[in-house]
Amino acid sequence: MKTKKDPVVAIDGPAGCGKSLISGKLATDFHFVKIDTGALFRAVALFLSEHFNDLETSLKSVDAFQLQKLLSNLQFHYKTNPVTVSLNGKEYGPEHLREHRVSELASIVSANPEVRKIIEKWQRNIVESGKDIYVVEGRDIGTVVFPNAQAKIFLTASPEVRAQRRFVQLQQNGKLGELTEKKILEDIKKRDTRDSSREIAPLMKADDAFELDTSDLSIEEVLDTIKQILTKQGLINA
Ligand code: C5P
Repeated sequence: MKTKKDPVVAIDGPAGCGKSLISGKLATDFHFVKIDTGALFRAVALFLSEHFNDLETSLKSVDAFQLQKLLSNLQFHYKTNPVTVSLNGKEYGPEHLREHRVSELASIVSANPEVRKIIEKWQRNIVESGKDIYVVEGRDIGTVVFPNAQAKIFLTASPEVRAQRRFVQLQQNGKLGELTEKKILEDIKKRDTRDSSREIAPLMKADDAFELDTSDLSIEEVLDTIKQILTKQGLINA
């Protein structure tokens, strides 16, 4: 018996590989709804950092049942354009979520099983309660959250190219502060190691995902390749 596919285009890959830009363009061009799952981890990281002083140490010692209770009682709401996550009525918009320090916090909380469980549930709820096609970008979308996604893309790029893209992005958004490209590269490598080596839902390519190295490709070239895949899957018309 054939398993029913979820109406999802899964876009996974490491920080700075172009996931966000590409999924945003696909959403605009084909009226898909974009789910930025990194934003969910970032919002939970901000929420938990308001509860715990030293997040990394606290998460190692916190009682799993207490944490599960705290998270499952959260009233969650997600809005796209601009991506805004609301937790118990408190809104976290791009100005909070996209700060460089929040990337590190999100990577820390994302290794916690209770955090992953609740965020996985939120993602499934969004898709199951809607009637749209969703472009979902993250680290474990094709492997864990939507293994039956209709299309799966795994984007990569060298750490140097990704650091350079992040540098330009932060500069354009006026969020560079004291950060240098060298420091961003160090942080990206650290985050890659943490995201790929964690025990649960590590960053990895699903066996049936199409892998695309974007290091030397323009946005248009990446988009063209993905559009060909989506056409083959019957998700869009050529
Ligand atoms: O994609 P973004 O950089 O916003 O993600 C922030 C962090 O959230 C990642 O470094 C990763 O640790 C975590 N994340 C994850 N699984 C996802 C999305 C993000 O573990 N599906």
